[in-house]
Amino acid sequence: MSNSPFSPIHVIGGGLAGSEAAWQIAETGVPVILHEMRGVRGTDAHKTDSLAELVCSNSFRSDDATANAVGVIHAEMRLANSLIMACADRNQVPAGGALAVDRDGFAEAVTAAIDAHDLITVVREEVTALPPAEWDLAIVATGPLTSPALAAAIQAQTGEDHLAFFDAIAPIVHRDSIDMNICWHQSRYDKVGPGGNGKDYINCPMDQKQYNAFIDALIGGDTVGFKEWEGTPYFDGCLPIEVMAERGRETLRHGPMKPMGLTNAHNPTVKPYAVVQLRQDNALGTLFNMVGFQTKLKYGAQADIFRMIPGLENAEFARLGGLHRNTYIQSPLLLDRSLTLKSRPGLRFAGQITGCEGYVESAAIGLLAGRFAAAERKGLDPVAPPATTAFGALLSHITGGHLVSEDEPGKRSFQPMNVNFGLFPDLAPGSIVKPEGVKRFRGKDKTIMKRQLMASRALSECSRWLGLA
Ligand SMILES: Cc1cc2nc3c(=O)[nH]c(=O)nc-3n(C[C@H](O)[C@H](O)[C@H](O)COP(=O)(O)OP(=O)(O)OC[C@H]3O[C@@H](n4cnc5c(N)ncnc54)[C@H](O)[C@@H]3O)c2cc1C
Repeated sequence: MSNSPFSPIHVIGGGLAGSEAAWQIAETGVPVILHEMRGVRGTDAHKTDSLAELVCSNSFRSDDATANAVGVIHAEMRLANSLIMACADRNQVPAGGALAVDRDGFAEAVTAAIDAHDLITVVREEVTALPPAEWDLAIVATGPLTSPALAAAIQAQTGEDHLAFFDAIAPIVHRDSIDMNICWHQSRYDKVGPGGNGKDYINCPMDQKQYNAFIDALIGGDTVGFKEWEGTPYFDGCLPIEVMAERGRETLRHGPMKPMGLTNAHNPTVKPYAVVQLRQDNALGTLFNMVGFQTKLKYGAQADIFRMIPGLENAEFARLGGLHRNTYIQSPLLLDRSLTLKSRPGLRFAGQITGCEGYVESAAIGLLAGRFAAAERKGLDPVAPPATTAFGALLSHITGGHLVSEDEPGKRSFQPMNVNFGLFPDLAPGSIVKPEGVKRFRGKDKTIMKRQLMASRALSECSRWLGLA
């Protein structure tokens, strides 16, 4: 170990987030003790003892930093000296516009870099309790398969309702892809409720024929099975929509698709036979989730079937639905903007356990947690990235952008999220203008231009935040 003037920061979990966090901390001159249990105790999904093992696909998704939010976060991570991105770039395999890696080469490269760093000590052990007081600064990055003993300790600290063991994700739709000539804003019975205005939901009407066709499609759709170790986590009335449809043709019409208390603003005299409701999902109002539509349908089937819903024919999905084993906390309630647990100063969370989703997002949140903890160790205020960056957009979603209410029964509504442009603040009015000489400037062209402008704004703001510009 070095003779650094700083005492170490403890990182628990050497996956995508923990490895990146450890690297970022050490690169600022602060020592790290990285506790990883594999080697002593495995998980149900990991197969090796390497750090940063990819448990499933070998893809880091799109590498297009000009118009794709994942590509933008890749670029921001590269600007921020990311170990995960450096090792991914060195172990790339051909995958068109995506960044895919040789999984063994990638994980071995991360492990070798961490092992070789003078300021990082790797301890192979399971941490079974929250960090002791002498670990004054620590990051929990134990991921979706956090070991049961530590999960129980986190639950004891955060409260039973604030740690989930499964995602039950309903699809999330970009607001600007919903056809408001068909849909309308209204809360059931115009209820205002706490913080509402009586028009909080977007409603999609169905007649009987449309409803029956939709039920047939749901019942016939291809689903993904549970892995043996996941069990079958149907709980809390959280049944997949296709399972509800199978239980009876009318079940959905008396459940999440009931038309009661709603009047079609475009056609007030005709009562809809069924209604699909979407509820605002982020503070910006750019994303709406399909209420009660958690599903195990395969992604392709979901997109096809949900576009049968009137008003969603051209829906763009920020994420599709799912039901998976996943340990994550209610971050918007529990964490501050620097990813610190409000009830336990000095203790941060990073990676998928914070409610981001995906290899890249987990590593990105690890990168931020590492930088914030290192700043704190040096007596500096952790400075969060601007919300206009991909880093900042994801961080804002986790630490407060998502709408959760302590009073609502749906307070578990916070669900893991990939980075996407729906999380970014909108552009200044008038930013999207038809380029000179272009004859037709359609909705699709406007969307592309919007993404390009958001991407370039993000990268320049990120450079500024990192002190590079
Ligand atoms: C089965 C499955 C498949 C997935 N497939 C994909 C995919 O294809 N693409 C994608 O982008 N994302 C996928 N994800 C989601 C997610 O992005 C990955 O799980 C990602 O690895 C999360 O990064 P992380 O660092 O938060 O957690 P992990 O990479 O899981 O790292 C957590 C680490 O903490 C260790 N640990 C756990 N408990 C303790 C403890 N008590 N003490 C010490 N160490 C501990 C674990 O051994 C592990 O090494 C998948 C998730 C699962 C569960």
